[in-house]
Amino acid sequence: MKIFVCIKQVPDPNTTVSKLDPNTRRLMRSGVSLVLDPGDESTISAAIKLRDTLGNSELVALSMGPTSAQEALRRCLAMGADRAILVTDPALAGSDAIATARVLAAAIQKEGADLIFCSTESTDGYTGMVPGGIAEFLGLPQLTFARDITIEGSKAIIKRVIPTGYKVVECPLPAVVTIASGSYEAIYPTMKGIMGARKKPFSQLSLSDLGIETGQVGEAGAREQILAIGQAEARAAGQVVKDDGNAAQNIADFLQRYQLL
Ligand SMILES: Cc1cc2nc3c(=O)[nH]c(=O)nc-3n(C[C@H](O)[C@H](O)[C@H](O)COP(=O)(O)OP(=O)(O)OC[C@H]3O[C@@H](n4cnc5c(N)ncnc54)[C@H](O)[C@@H]3O)c2cc1C
Repeated sequence: MKIFVCIKQVPDPNTTVSKLDPNTRRLMRSGVSLVLDPGDESTISAAIKLRDTLGNSELVALSMGPTSAQEALRRCLAMGADRAILVTDPALAGSDAIATARVLAAAIQKEGADLIFCSTESTDGYTGMVPGGIAEFLGLPQLTFARDITIEGSKAIIKRVIPTGYKVVECPLPAVVTIASGSYEAIYPTMKGIMGARKKPFSQLSLSDLGIETGQVGEAGAREQILAIGQAEARAAGQVVKDDGNAAQNIADFLQRYQLL
């Protein structure tokens, strides 16, 4: 079976407060530590687990991004992916979610895939639109919010997260599946994995390799435009309730006043 996992490099959410450049209105990436999206670490681990369960399968990690995204893909190889593909091209800068889905779908179509893993949403743009866009461009079914996935014959079966627990959903292969965040423990690369990653196949594709016009992507092809950037309002300090014997009543009154009770 050929399995793809789509991953993204993002500003490190643990060390960086994402900022938008007031001039370009795009995310500031220079001078910011960039990491493999933490949400995607769980998704790759899900894909590695399934590949190992199935046997006789290949797992390809795929990303669209600047050349710096190589580092995120190398971490996927160190975690256990078999091969990596980076789609990079200066014309991709400023791409919206639809353009991102178009490019990833074209890279997957070039090779053919039985199953495509994505996370439900990224940590920086978090539109949640890319996985559905990939499924649409490839004309494939999509299973969403999976907390567990198995393969039986030519169909994929998931436990889909719902507010009261989960429901079992299935579809024929090939398909796209999104993994619900936190469903799989992230695999940590071993030293052997890190050393081995250097020998694993790594290829790079440009827009012309995919037959995509520059006008369909980047700022030129973006269907949405950021018109303005505003500062988030500073949060008002909370109300401190001192317990002088009436604290419970004061809190109840407060909650009632705001119809929270
Ligand atoms: C703050 C901010 C706001 C934005 N708002 C919008 C907006 O409103 N509309 C819009 O169209 N675009 C928007 N964008 C641009 C959008 O983030 C990018 O197009 C991005 O490449 C894809 O969208 P996402 O991160 O929201 O993806 P999501 O759909 O949230 O990502 C879900 C999953 O798809 C896969 N994936 C996503 N991007 C890639 C990639 N580059 N390579 C490989 N796999 C990937 C990963 O598995 C990821 O976890 C915004 C970007 C930022 C930083």
